[in-house]
Amino acid sequence: MADAMLALYGLAASRGYAIGRAVVLGAAALEVSHYRIAPEDTDAECERLAEAVSVARDDFLRLADNLPPDSPREISALLHVHAMLLADPMLAQEPLNLIRERHYNAEWALTAQGQQLGEQFAAMSDEYFRERSSDVRHVIERVLQVLAGAPEIAPADQAHGTGESLIVVAHDISPADMVKLRGAKFAAFATDLGGATSHTAIVARSMGVAAVVGLTNVCTLARDGDTLVVDGETGTVLINPSQGILAEYLERQAWFAAERASLALIKDTPSVTLDGIKITLQANIEWPEEAASALAAGAEGIGLFRSEFLFMNRHGLPDEEEQYQAYASVVRAMEGRPVTIRTLDIGADKTLDDEATVATNPALGERAVRYCLARPDMFATQLRAILRASAHGTVRILLPMIAHMHEVRACLAAIDSARAELDTRGQSYAEHIEIGAMVEIPAIAIAIEPFAEALDFLSIGTNDLIQYTLAIDRADPGVARLYDPLHPAVLRLIANTINAGTRTGKPVSVCGEMAGEVSLTRLLLGLGLTSFSMHPQQLLDVKREILRAHTNALRTKVAAVLNRAEPIDPKTL
Ligand code: PEP
Ligand code: MG
Repeated sequence: MADAMLALYGLAASRGYAIGRAVVLGAAALEVSHYRIAPEDTDAECERLAEAVSVARDDFLRLADNLPPDSPREISALLHVHAMLLADPMLAQEPLNLIRERHYNAEWALTAQGQQLGEQFAAMSDEYFRERSSDVRHVIERVLQVLAGAPEIAPADQAHGTGESLIVVAHDISPADMVKLRGAKFAAFATDLGGATSHTAIVARSMGVAAVVGLTNVCTLARDGDTLVVDGETGTVLINPSQGILAEYLERQAWFAAERASLALIKDTPSVTLDGIKITLQANIEWPEEAASALAAGAEGIGLFRSEFLFMNRHGLPDEEEQYQAYASVVRAMEGRPVTIRTLDIGADKTLDDEATVATNPALGERAVRYCLARPDMFATQLRAILRASAHGTVRILLPMIAHMHEVRACLAAIDSARAELDTRGQSYAEHIEIGAMVEIPAIAIAIEPFAEALDFLSIGTNDLIQYTLAIDRADPGVARLYDPLHPAVLRLIANTINAGTRTGKPVSVCGEMAGEVSLTRLLLGLGLTSFSMHPQQLLDVKREILRAHTNALRTKVAAVLNRAEPIDPKTL
C-alpha cells in the first residue's frame, strides 16, 4: 500500500515548484555506533580518528582553494573557519583523550566532544559564537563521513546520473555542502532549519530552484527515494502525495515555467507604463558576483550595493585594495551603468566579528553612518576605495541612516578629504560622482527639503523606515504581524520624499523590500515613484506590472485614499 501523504509547512525561501525524489543528506551524527574498544586497540583507534580529522581538514582547505569564481566570498571564509575548528585542540585533541581514558570508539568520542562543544557555543550570548555551534556540527558530520569511508567531498552531480529530478532534504546545509550543491542539478531544497537568509535560501535563489526552509522535521519524516513536492510559493512540502495532487502540481509547475519563460521575453523591453512614463529598474546586490544576475535580469544599474557584506564573517577589516578590487569588479561588470555603493551599514543586526559589545538598543545605536563618522580612518579607507573604483565607470555613493544635516556635511567633507588624498597619491577617480542618502529614518523623511537640496539623489530604505516609523524591530518574529508597509504613516513618508524629489529635481528611488514586492508596484507608481531597486529575481515580475500600469490613473486613485486612517488595500488599485 502506498504511504499516506504528509504535508509539512515551513518558510518559502525560493520561488517555484518541484516534484522529485528525496535525497536525504546528513544526520550522520545521530546514527553513529557507540562501543568501547579493547585497551590494546587504543593507539590504532586514536590514529584512525586523527587521520580522519586531518583528511576532513584538508578537504575544507582544498574546497576553499578551488571555489568556483562566482561563489559568494563568505563561503571561502567559512570553509577556513571549518578547517580551523578541526585544528583546534578541542576537536583535534579532546576526543583522543576520551578514546584513551574511557575507551570510546572514534565516532562516539568525536560526537560526545562535539555535543559538549556545540552546547557551549549555543549558550554564548554573542551571536557570532552561537552560530559556531552549527559549524561544529557540520565539521563533525564531515569527519564522521570520512570515518565511514567517504574519502572526499564528491560533487553531487557525479553521484546521481539518472536524469530524474532530485530534491535535497537536509537538517541544515553547510557551506561545504553548498559549494558542491551549486554545481549540481538539484530541483529543490527542503531543510529543517534556516530562515530567508540561510545558506540554503541563498544557494537556491542563486540556482533559481524552489526551496522551503524551517520545516523542523522534514529530515526525519522524509526517507531517501520518497516522492516529494516542494512548493516554494507557499512554503509547503508534501511527502508521497496522491496521484491527483501530483497531477495538480504538475500543472502548477507547467504554469510557473510558462510564466517565467514569458517573463524572460520582456527582459530587454523598456520599462515604460501605458501612459509613457519611463520607470528605472535597478538591482540590489550584496556580493560583487551578483552583478551578473543583475545584468541577466535586465537591470539598468545597481541601485544598492550593500558593502557591509564585504566586512562580515571575517576577522579584521578589508583594506583599501581589497575593497577597491571588489567595487571595481562590479563597476566594470556593469559597463557604464550606474553602480550605487552604499557606505558601510554596520550595527543593529549586522555586527562585525571582532566587536563583541552590543548596545542596549543597537538599532538605535551607533549604526551605519554614525559608526563610520566615529571611525574616520576606516571611513576614509572605504571612501578612497569607492572613489578609485569610480575611474572604471559610473559610481554613486549612498550614505545610510542619515538623520541630521551635520551628518551630511561631515560625510561630504570626508569624501573631499578622500579625494585630496588620492590627488596627493596621483590616483584617479571620476570627476563627478553623485552622492545621495538613504531615507530610512522618519526624521529625514518628514524634514526632507534641505537633504534633497544638498544631495544629488535620495533612496528610500523602506525596511528600516517601517521599523523606525512603527517602532517594530524588523528582525523580531514576535511583532512581525505589526510590521505593515501599508500603514498610512509609512505611505505618507514615502510620498513626502518623492514629492520633495520632484520639487527639487532630485531623483528618488525605493531600494527596500517594498520595491520588489509585486503586489505593491501599482501603489508605489501611484505615489509617483519612477525608480525601483530590488533583488534581481524580482525584477521582471515588477517590470511586467509596470508595463500594464497607467501611472496617471494610479496617482489619482492613490491621492484619493492616502489620507485615510486605515491601510490602503493595494488590490483595489
Ligand atoms: C532598508 O532599510 O530598506 C534598506 C534597503 O537597507 P537594509 O535592508 O540593508 O537595512
Ligand atoms: Mg536600512
